[in-house]
Amino acid sequence: MPTFKAYKKKLKEAARDPKISVALERAIASFRKNVEEALTKFPHTLKMAEEVRGIKEQSISRMEELVDKACKAIRQNKGEAFVARTPAEALGIIEGIVGSGKLIVKGKSLTGEEIDLREHLEERGNEVYETDLGEYIVQLLGIKPMHLLAPAVHVPKEDVAELLSRVTGKKVPPDIEAEVATVRRILRDKFFRANIGMSGANVVAADTGTLFQIENEGNIRLSTAAPPVYIALIGMEKVVPTIEDAFKVAEVTWRYAGYTVPAYVNLVSGPSKTGDIEKVTTYGAHGPKEMYVIFLDAGRSKLAQDPVFKEALYCLRCGGCLYECPLFAVTAGRFGDKYFGGIGAIWTAFVTGELADAAPLTYSCLSCGRCKIRCPMAIDAPQMCLELRKRIAEGS
Ligand code: SF4
Ligand code: SF4
Repeated sequence: MPTFKAYKKKLKEAARDPKISVALERAIASFRKNVEEALTKFPHTLKMAEEVRGIKEQSISRMEELVDKACKAIRQNKGEAFVARTPAEALGIIEGIVGSGKLIVKGKSLTGEEIDLREHLEERGNEVYETDLGEYIVQLLGIKPMHLLAPAVHVPKEDVAELLSRVTGKKVPPDIEAEVATVRRILRDKFFRANIGMSGANVVAADTGTLFQIENEGNIRLSTAAPPVYIALIGMEKVVPTIEDAFKVAEVTWRYAGYTVPAYVNLVSGPSKTGDIEKVTTYGAHGPKEMYVIFLDAGRSKLAQDPVFKEALYCLRCGGCLYECPLFAVTAGRFGDKYFGGIGAIWTAFVTGELADAAPLTYSCLSCGRCKIRCPMAIDAPQMCLELRKRIAEGS
């Protein structure tokens, strides 16, 4: 986290950047319209959100037990599962599986961002491709994502065309369809040549060990299914008791993320298998032969014990609060580092283990309460920001 002075400078620069304001204005309008449509078409989602809040409360109070249960289920399904208490431990486990000199295709993962997963693997001599379109643009530009769900929300099509023309050595017009087709051509070959696929998960069912991934592009489906080895890095807070609970969490997540229904919901419970020849179960049919799941703690178990801040673990990462936040509307992803907005202040404090790291974020929250109104989990981020200020001032 930068110093206050550097942070303030970043905020001011972002607020004066016309590309950010135009992109955000469009994104906010379309997000609001999409959520409105999704909730109008499926009004039961409102009631279901209350139910999901109950599921999350129960899950966080039993987090360790449920993670243990999920690990056992994944092992029963012939996958391997680990609990990493620190980012270094998670990176060590992943490095042990990956080694070096590998080609890796990766789905967007905030937990991966949290521990600088891509950078770490690249430093060890691996070639890593982000496969989410926005994340791929951000990777090529060497900048950081601006939103949980829309990492390249601030990059206009003209800049994307210029970037892709440079990468391919051929003129790509500033036409979104042509740009999407170009990225599809570049990445298609990577999916099928990759040694390893990686992703996160939106929710995990402890009873079956099933990972749920909500997506539209199809890149997660390919990253988790095409390479021979699949690795998932997932925050411990994502585990819920049953597959029935997980379906509810997934449905509420995608509606509040602005989708009536997403193009894909992947359910992955173990490595690919077949019993088609003499009924002998053999692993590694068309999908990966090996599957590894790493559950990351990194401050989450401490957060779960905190009577005020544990609410932050109920976050579904729908991204809705950011689109309603007046500060985010003018500064985008400058209102944060890896985690954005008021909710991001709490996450920053706990995953870095240093409350003071979240000071710039928590002091820039306006306490307007708009994020809480939009939040499907009714998370009181403004109140938590005030409490965080108090604790930072007290040095506790
Ligand atoms: S309370 Fe803070 S984080 Fe929430 S919308 Fe207002 S300024 Fe943004
Ligand atoms: S705090 Fe609420 S609105 Fe914001 S991302 Fe999390 S669940 Fe969504």
